[in-house]
Amino acid sequence: MPELPEVESVRTRLAPLLEGRRIEQVEITDPRLTRPLRPQEVARELERELIDCVDRRGKYLIVRFESGRALLVHLRMTGSLLHAPAGTLPDDPHRRAVVRLDDGSDVAYRDVRRFGTWSLLEPADVAAYVDARVGQEPLGGAFRPRDLGARLAKRRAPIKAALLDQRTVAGIGNIYADEALWRARVHPLQPAGALTADEVRAVHRGIRRALEVGIARQGSTLTDYRLPDGSFGRMQTELNVYGRTGEPCRRCGTPIEKIRVGGRGTWYCPRCQRPPQAASSSSSRPSRSRRQSSA
Ligand SMILES: [Zn+2]
Repeated sequence: MPELPEVESVRTRLAPLLEGRRIEQVEITDPRLTRPLRPQEVARELERELIDCVDRRGKYLIVRFESGRALLVHLRMTGSLLHAPAGTLPDDPHRRAVVRLDDGSDVAYRDVRRFGTWSLLEPADVAAYVDARVGQEPLGGAFRPRDLGARLAKRRAPIKAALLDQRTVAGIGNIYADEALWRARVHPLQPAGALTADEVRAVHRGIRRALEVGIARQGSTLTDYRLPDGSFGRMQTELNVYGRTGEPCRRCGTPIEKIRVGGRGTWYCPRCQRPPQAASSSSSRPSRSRRQSSA
């Protein structure tokens, strides 16, 4: 499932191909993509729009038009975008939409499981729509450890589940949550509100580092994710814990274990990431000194 690094990699590649282009023709063949609006209606509204820029917030790709309107694309599980020069678009049974640009090139949307969404928003609605669904950008300069700490405070949910909540911080999914917690040496089941200030700082740093590495490798292609030229990301061979059951931890050599947290497969190192009950023997909120002495 595409997360921040994957969507950002798509954005980086698509932006120079789309910006300044006018949309000539749009065909949307899957009513699920645009509901509750009819696909023909959205297609007609998109035609003649001039693309100002291709933006991103969390896992949303935001195509902003000169009119002030914006198309919010969410790839969900298996969505991907392919850019093809004029007349080169290959056949694809999983294609759900095609946008023809004024240079003759096509942007095709493919989605095997059909959970992806296209939402065309009026200028006055764009910011409110996004802000209601997505928290701070983790790679932005304004995102500080204390912002993360404030979002986690008083939450009993496991830290892994809290990170998957898009309002905690934008763009983190199952892969990069596990990678961030491994980097931070924090167990995925630790209650979010029980993290010490040091652990919050470590998670903040872990999130940033995991996402930056993901972006540098242009994302993880585990199944369906592709870049807009059809190529794969390269992050999947460099993951530290995600999907590595039984393989040695790259830090300590201990076999990586898999558990379920909030219904999601979760990978961690049982030695680097101490379980919450071992970290706090008697007290429910471990003191920093005890945690350090037990490490
Ligand atoms: Zn380890």
